Amino acid sequence: MRNKNHPFLWGAATSAHQVEGGNKLNDWWEWEALGNVKTASGKACDHYNRFKEDFKIARDLGHNAHRFSLEWSRLEPEEGRWDMAAWGHYKEALLTLDSFDIEPILTLNHFTLPLWLYRKGGWLSESSVPCFERFAGKAVEVLGNDVNYWITINEPLVHAFLAYSKGIWPPGKKDMALAFKVIEKELSAHAAAYPVMHKTARDIFQKDIKVGVAHNVTKFFPCRARSIEDNLAALMRHHMYNHLFIWSLINGRLLFPGFRPRMLQSRNTLDFIGLNYYTSEHIRFGGHGVAALFGNPCYLPHHRIRFDWENTLGWKVYPEGLYHLLKDFARYRLPIMITENGIPAKDDADRVRFIEEHLSWLFKARDEGVPLIGYLYWSLLDNFEWADGYGPRFGIVEVDYASMTRTVRPSAKRMADYIKRKL
Ligand code: BGC
Repeated sequence: MRNKNHPFLWGAATSAHQVEGGNKLNDWWEWEALGNVKTASGKACDHYNRFKEDFKIARDLGHNAHRFSLEWSRLEPEEGRWDMAAWGHYKEALLTLDSFDIEPILTLNHFTLPLWLYRKGGWLSESSVPCFERFAGKAVEVLGNDVNYWITINEPLVHAFLAYSKGIWPPGKKDMALAFKVIEKELSAHAAAYPVMHKTARDIFQKDIKVGVAHNVTKFFPCRARSIEDNLAALMRHHMYNHLFIWSLINGRLLFPGFRPRMLQSRNTLDFIGLNYYTSEHIRFGGHGVAALFGNPCYLPHHRIRFDWENTLGWKVYPEGLYHLLKDFARYRLPIMITENGIPAKDDADRVRFIEEHLSWLFKARDEGVPLIGYLYWSLLDNFEWADGYGPRFGIVEVDYASMTRTVRPSAKRMADYIKRKL
């Protein structure tokens, strides 16, 4: 692989199940077949076959980085059996990016699990951590020469809450205690994979890789600005939701309500912080027991700080929140990469506004010294938006799902122009 040395990485992101199509051997495919989503993923964007065309679009836009994920269920279709043809596919994808001078940022796990692991209890099973560790080691062994930036797990908190507390993702559980256990498992899986990945890269390729996570963050505001309880709830939520996971990977201590505090071997297992930022929420004190402390989102239109507008999924858009979160995360003195930031929009003009406003806050933070190494828009392509199916359109590239035609939206060019002006 060429040494790219791009001073600021920028481009877009995707994830395997959302774009590839035909991922028949994972938990989501089964969940979709049982009628749990608006539309099943089916062929998705057929990116598994069209990745060259898609990467070429990114190259033509000037992207120097691209984030995508491995589909574990293709690579290890049965426990302990590697499918070398599937590994070859991802190798080819990486070589294509390399030929376009695009730095890959490779995610090992983006929400989906192989069916064999799902059937054993998924993340909650005894073997989830060792199996993930083995998968991570294999990934570096096979692909390590072509990847400098690795992300172990995408958004552990989002995944755990939606799948185990809200119950709208597989396995559809509604039990907060299970969600916390899953977060703990994913944290342990990251911590177990981290040294193995580094050692494998050093032993086989004599190189140092960067390993991080992609962590969802939200900007929280107290609902009633003068209420002590609301301020406390918003602050608690900020620390629990935005910081605790990252803090645990740096300081090695995990503390969740309902569990005894305990030490985990996760200290110093982060080389960079990946942040996914989409939205802001107002928090109002209330609820039962300990949960009261973390409050509840308040959607009434009576707040002092108003969010600018709402996206098509009803999430509040607040570009300035990115700046505050970046300044806040600078405390860890680790490089920060925006691994996702995006909007589902009917009108591409909304996407243009979203991107330009977020970028202006992002570069302000960078100019003020935040160690920012990259920005990746979510997503390169319109794609399968999990429980929401194909309705929401996040792409800077439009996909016509019937003909699979790709059309570059004006926002893609505006994003490229904006970033090129800043670099
Ligand atoms: C996830 C993506 C998802 C996006 C928009 C992020 O939470 O990583 O998979 O499509 O948000 O909802």
